[in-house]
Amino acid sequence: MSLVVPVFNEADAVRHFIDAVNSAIDESWPDRAEIPQFEFIFVDDGSGDATAIVIRELRKRDQRIKLVSLSRNFGKEAALSAGLHSATGDAAVPMDVDLQDPPDLLRPMIDAWLEGNVVVNARRADRSSDTLLKRTFSRLFYRAINLISDQPIADDVGDFRLFDRAAIDVLNQMTEHTRFNKGLFSWIGFQTKTIEYVRPTRSVGKTKWKPFKLISLAFDGLTSSTTLPLRIWTVLGALIALGAIGYACWLVFYTLTYGIDVPGYASLMVAVSFLGGLNLFTLGLIGEYLSKVAIQVRGRPLYVVASKEGF
Ligand code: UDP
Ligand code: MG
Repeated sequence: MSLVVPVFNEADAVRHFIDAVNSAIDESWPDRAEIPQFEFIFVDDGSGDATAIVIRELRKRDQRIKLVSLSRNFGKEAALSAGLHSATGDAAVPMDVDLQDPPDLLRPMIDAWLEGNVVVNARRADRSSDTLLKRTFSRLFYRAINLISDQPIADDVGDFRLFDRAAIDVLNQMTEHTRFNKGLFSWIGFQTKTIEYVRPTRSVGKTKWKPFKLISLAFDGLTSSTTLPLRIWTVLGALIALGAIGYACWLVFYTLTYGIDVPGYASLMVAVSFLGGLNLFTLGLIGEYLSKVAIQVRGRPLYVVASKEGF
C-alpha cells in the first residue's frame, strides 16, 4: 500500500501525520499479521521550510518512509503525479498531510479494494468544515462541470481515493500537462465503490490554496474535461446569422410596403447582424478543429481495458 502525500511547507504537519496514520493502522488491524505492508511517499513540492529535513530525519528510523523532492513548487496536482509515478504498491492512496483525509478510512477502503473494487472513492458526506463561500463555489463548480463535461465527475470526492495498480498504471500513462486530477480519476473508469466520511478541519498549519489558484484550477478542470466552450459558437453563430437573414427578409418586406423610415438603417442593421453571426459561426468552426487538436494533443489512451477473457 503506497500512501502518496504531497507536502508544501508542512514541517509541523508531517510528524502528526505519521503518528496519526500509525495509530490508525494499529487500531484498524488488531491482528498485526493482517497489516498490509505500507510505504509513505512524501512528495516535497518545493517547500521553503524544514519539511524535507523533517522527513529525512523520520526516514532514518522508519524504512517505510520515502521522499521525492521536486526542484520547485509545481502545485499539488503535479506533486501527486510525481508520487503516483514513484509508488511501488499494489494499490495507492493519495492523502493530504493535514489529516483532512482521515487515516481511519484506510481499513474500509482497503477492505473494499480486497472485495474486488479497482477504485474506492471517499466522498465527503458533509462539508461543514469548509467556509460557506468555498462550499457554494464548489457546489456551483460541480453543477457546471457535470452539465457540460464529457465524463461526469464524482462530486465531493477529492483526491482521497484508493487506486489499484491497474488504475495507477493508466493514470501514469496520461501525459497531459494541464492536470485536473478529479477529471482524470473519473475518466479512467473501472469498478468503483464510494465510502462516505465527514471531512475534519485541518490539523495544523494553514491551507496552501489561495482563492485565485482554486479558480484557476476550476478553469483547468472545465477546459480539460470538455471542449464545449470552443464548439458552442458554431451553433450560436449559425442561429444569429439565420436570425439576421430572417430579419433582413422582414426589413426588405417592410421597406417595400411602408417606405423608408431612416435611410440606411435597414441595410446597416442587416449587414452588421449577418456578419456578426457569420463571424461567430466561423469562430466556432475553428473551435471544432481546435477541439479535435486539443483532444489529440492530450494523448489519452483511446480506451482502458478492465480485463480480457478467453485469449
Ligand atoms: N500542497 C502541495 N503543493 C501545493 C499546495 C498544497 O503539495 O502547491 C499539499 C499540501 O501540503 C497538503 C495538500 O496539498 O498536503 C492539501 O493542501 P491544503 O490542505 O492546503 O488544501 P485544502 O485542504 O485547504 O484544500
Ligand atoms: Mg487541507
